[in-house]
Formats: sequence, C-alpha cells, structure tokens
Amino acid sequence: MSELSITLRLENWDESRPLTREEAVEILNLPEEEMPKLLDCAYALRTKYKGKKVSVQLLTNVRSGNCSQNCAYCAQSRDSEAPIEKYRRVSDEKLYGDNDLVDEKHLARHCIGLSGIGFSDEEIEDLADRIREMKKKETQICCSIGFLTEKQAKMLKEAGLDRINHNLNSSRSFYPEICTTHTYEQRVNNIKMLQGLGFEICSGGIIGMGESKEDVVDMLMDLREINPESVPINFLLPIPGTRLADRDISELTPEYCLKVLCLARLMISKSDIRCAAGREVYFKGIEPTLFKVVDSIFASGYLTAGGQGIDATMKMIEEAGFTGEIESTDEE
Ligand code: SF4
Repeated sequence: MSELSITLRLENWDESRPLTREEAVEILNLPEEEMPKLLDCAYALRTKYKGKKVSVQLLTNVRSGNCSQNCAYCAQSRDSEAPIEKYRRVSDEKLYGDNDLVDEKHLARHCIGLSGIGFSDEEIEDLADRIREMKKKETQICCSIGFLTEKQAKMLKEAGLDRINHNLNSSRSFYPEICTTHTYEQRVNNIKMLQGLGFEICSGGIIGMGESKEDVVDMLMDLREINPESVPINFLLPIPGTRLADRDISELTPEYCLKVLCLARLMISKSDIRCAAGREVYFKGIEPTLFKVVDSIFASGYLTAGGQGIDATMKMIEEAGFTGEIESTDEE
C-alpha cells in the first residue's frame, strides 16, 4: 500500500476497517511531515472513547528481586546484577499506606507487582488477605503476578482483585531474544485463563529492546485480539546490571515513541492506552502532545525505577489541558 493511501486512511478514519500488518508498519515509518495527521486521528479516537481524562495509577512493588527468570530488561531477574532492594514481601505499613494514598488522592488504581512466576497457595492466600483489607477502601486493584494456577486466580478473584497485569512484552518471534526461561505462548495462555475467569486484563509491552518495527506491530496485533482493558506501553530504560544495560536506545526518539503510542490507539482504540516506564525520559516537555494519544500513566515511579511524584503529575496533567480522573472508564 502506498504512503498516500495510509495518509488518506488517517484523514478519513474508518473504525470498521482494522489496520493490516502492512499498514501498521507504514504508520511506524511515516515521515515527520505526516505526524500531525497521525496525531489528529489518534486524538479523535482518544476523545471519542476516553474524553479528556487521564487515569493515574500508583505502583507498589510487593515482592522485589530474586526472580528465577532471565528477562533481559529486568533488574529483578536471576541474571541481573543491578543493586536493587530485594525482599519477599513489602511491609504492610508501606502496602496499606500506598493504598490509602490512592484513596485520598483519588487515583484511578493501585497496581501491585510481585517478582517471580510461581507462587504457593499459602503465598496467594496471604496476598488475598491483603487484597481483602485494601478493598475495604474500594480502591481499584490490579496485580502483576507471573503465572497463576486457576485455583490461585480464583482465590484472588474472591478476595476482590479487579484486574491482572500480564504483559506480552514483545512479539512472539522476538520473545526468545529477551527470555528463554518461559515462553510467549505461556503468557498468552495465562491471559486467556484469567479472561475466562472474568478478570479485567492489563497487557502491553516494552519498546526499544532491539525488536523490529514488524515485531512492534505483531505484538499490537496480538494485543488487539486479546482486547485488554488496559495496554501499558513501556519504553526501555536500560538498567545497569541487566543484559540490556548497554542497549542503544537512540531509536527511541520522541517522534518514534509517539508513533508507537498512536498505533496502539488506532489498533486498540477503546482500551486505556498507558504510557508507562520511560514517560519522564522520552516525553519530557511534550506532555500535551502525549496526552492527545494516551489516557493513562503512572505516578511516583515504577518497579525498580523512580518517577514523577503524584502532586507534580496531577499538576502536569491540568497544565496540559486534561483532567486527572478518579475512575477509568473502560466500558464505553
Ligand atoms: S519481568 Fe517478571 S518474570 Fe521476568 S525476570 Fe522480571 S520479575 Fe521475573
């Protein structure tokens, strides 16, 4: 398909015609002068489905480090030499304190992450107790937690857990380049099992690990099929001590990063599109443009990397002409 035709498609967007793989790759290759058309198209979809709200999530790392897996980007991996704090369970004071903060600041969601891929039933019951306690505040809770058995997933569902994060991270064909201790297929199957139990799903990926543009498109095509409530897109922050510490990230220009987010909005229009890790680095100073595309961000940092504080994040959203919202409007 010629460049002209993709430009025409952007000008006359037809939601009943999903982007083909070739068209999606063309979007990632659009010349700079076509960016306004791409942004306008993404903005129209963003306002149609999400208005001008930005949902803000707070992330608590409940279990940190000592993971048996070898994900190349991750400071918590068995292969990582990153000097991170390692613990089996964060203090209740910190966990409940963060949950209170989500409640008091009217944030959209409390995300809790646990390193590792396998958990004993006792560990899950322990977590379920804490979820029950936090749900007394009626905060929305999303848990990022490796692979669960169906029994364990039901235990968390019964405790009131709303959503589970399980990222695809990259394309099926690129996945073995970043991890060999589990497979892409295991991730897809886990997500399908969780969807079958009625969980909301948060699933996205990481850009900048050495994947091709076709890989980015393939991942988004799989995500389109999964149709998660939320799609977090992370931009690699190479962490010293990890296998990707010296990864060349010069390709992650603000323009390319925006193209990826626009493509996510075009392909999975109704989902929350979240600019996750890397926001403070790759989009610094262009937040008003970023919010034309995404409707969801984190405040106060990531699992093993710091970030912008809650009050500063809220101020930045208002100054960009958008609204920090209490609830995510998934159902449209
Ligand atoms: S991404 Fe998750 S599974 Fe992979 S090494 Fe990090 S904590 Fe372990």
